[in-house]
Amino acid sequence: MNEPKQPTQQPQTALIHHPYQPPAGFQAPQPGVYKASTVIFPNTAAMRTRDWRSRHGYTYGLHGTPTTFTLEERLCQLEGGLQCVLVPSGLAALANVALALLQSGDEVLIPDNAYGPNKALAEGELARWGISHQWYDPLSPADLAQRLGPRTRLVWLEAPGSVTMEFPDLPALTRLCREHGVISALDNTWGAGLAFNPFDFGEGWGVDISAHALTKYPSGGGDVLMGSVITRDEALHLRIKGTHMRLGLGVGANDVETLLRSLPSTALRYRAHDHAARQLAGWLQQRAEVVQVLHPALAGAPGHAQWQALCGAADGGAGAAAGLFSILLDSRYSPAQVDAFCDALKLFKLGYSWGGPISLVVPYALRSMRHQPTPHLHDGHLVRFSIGLEAVTDLQADLAQALAAALPSL
Ligand SMILES: *Cc1c(COP(=O)(O)O)cnc(C)c1O
Repeated sequence: MNEPKQPTQQPQTALIHHPYQPPAGFQAPQPGVYKASTVIFPNTAAMRTRDWRSRHGYTYGLHGTPTTFTLEERLCQLEGGLQCVLVPSGLAALANVALALLQSGDEVLIPDNAYGPNKALAEGELARWGISHQWYDPLSPADLAQRLGPRTRLVWLEAPGSVTMEFPDLPALTRLCREHGVISALDNTWGAGLAFNPFDFGEGWGVDISAHALTKYPSGGGDVLMGSVITRDEALHLRIKGTHMRLGLGVGANDVETLLRSLPSTALRYRAHDHAARQLAGWLQQRAEVVQVLHPALAGAPGHAQWQALCGAADGGAGAAAGLFSILLDSRYSPAQVDAFCDALKLFKLGYSWGGPISLVVPYALRSMRHQPTPHLHDGHLVRFSIGLEAVTDLQADLAQALAAALPSL
């Protein structure tokens, strides 16, 4: 290591050419972290023949390192897929799918309760580039069937939908896509590969693509933004990987390292978030201020039967769900009173995203978010909770004091 440097070299040259070799015979449970833009080829022949798309060789940091390949393989394991690309955020995963599969003249169908920025992408860049969209009713396979047309190339699915939490009939919706030869892509952030297998709904088929905001449960810390796009079809993967390369999408090794660190505890954390959320959702159902609780595991919630069919067998029959739910507060309260309720919460912080240790709350304006009628939702003020890892009794006490402080009995 400390060989004297060659007298002909300047110190900076000797420093840059320090003969570091990764240690042989060093084994630790946590994989090493490799950082690279440049990857060195042994000779020009290797440089010319190595395929950047291959997972069996390295060409450039943006196309993959041992560190990113390790995370990709583990995510495939988690979600039941075979190929994966990593992107800098969950939204980038949704965009990568759309840009890989759609061109001018095509149409994409998106559930009306989809993650808002996915709808904004359709209304923004996709519309500008001559790609049309329709919103479909996620609770009605008949509505999707009627909208599938000769120009439909991609159908998005989300289970349950963002904020209003309707759980769709995924087997029925994907069967329709299959019958029409249209690619189905699931935003699988809520299920996280834990609540159900996105590639096999139990009858031997599932979606074609699973996109996942790793920002949420796999990260678990509220400190990393990352997304993944997982497939089971090599040709489909290569289309996505091609767009990924041409757009210059990549992720930093430090962020991948954080994900590799937190991934093994995802299932434990998911279950803890789930149990706490269901307790609090059940408790809020009893409160007079609350006219409806939107959580797919609650009997009577929109899509509860579909949730039961797909996720009900997990966890010894208790079923699996994320730590997310919404409530509708009585419409007789004013918007200012609802804001005061959110502001009065102390443990719940006002903030977007979910999956981290801190509980979060966001008030939403339902009317501006939906294009289709929502007869399954009561009239009221929509508030979404993400349940963290605090003690449930403390969270319940916080909700109770904020309700008492801001919302007088009617
Ligand atoms: C958060 C989220 C995304 C986007 O993830 P980011 O990493 O924040 O871009 C996509 N879909 C759903 C359902 C999400 O909740």
